Amino acid sequence: MALETTLILFKPDAVSKGLVGQVLARFEGAGLKIRGIKMLQFGDALLREHYSHIASKPFFPDVQKFMQQTPIVALALAGEDAVAQVRSLLGPTDSKKAPKGSIRGDLGIDVMVNVCHASDSTEAAAAELNRFFRDDELFSR
Ligand code: ADP
Repeated sequence: MALETTLILFKPDAVSKGLVGQVLARFEGAGLKIRGIKMLQFGDALLREHYSHIASKPFFPDVQKFMQQTPIVALALAGEDAVAQVRSLLGPTDSKKAPKGSIRGDLGIDVMVNVCHASDSTEAAAAELNRFFRDDELFSR
């Protein structure tokens, strides 16, 4: 087990439906600790950088429109195996296939509208934390 920090983005569906608090409570209830949190509007350049792995997909314009519907909330969470732990709490990408009891299974709508983004590896987490937080916005406790 390794102490890791991972990056979560509460997507516009979570923000507009008022789901941020209950999802954050699930993360904190699992023992994960907040190291940083902020609200921001996803700009075109940042969005293209963050989703470069899907930028050529036919559904990318829909993702772009969806992710810019409202401001998002970015969260840095620390804990033992935080990257895998958060992905497991979240469930698979497609909310319709996500098991009940997972965040996407309980609160998501479909493959695009799925409550949260979470880093999928420690390498991605390092790059994504750097993308959304300055060093002095991340706290250790
Ligand atoms: P994850 O967010 O689970 O890591 P991906 O990195 O594969 O999944 O995709 C990034 C995001 O793009 C997804 O969370 C979802 O919002 C959107 N997405 C992925 N696949 C599709 C699809 N087939 N149709 C529409 N949106 C999709």
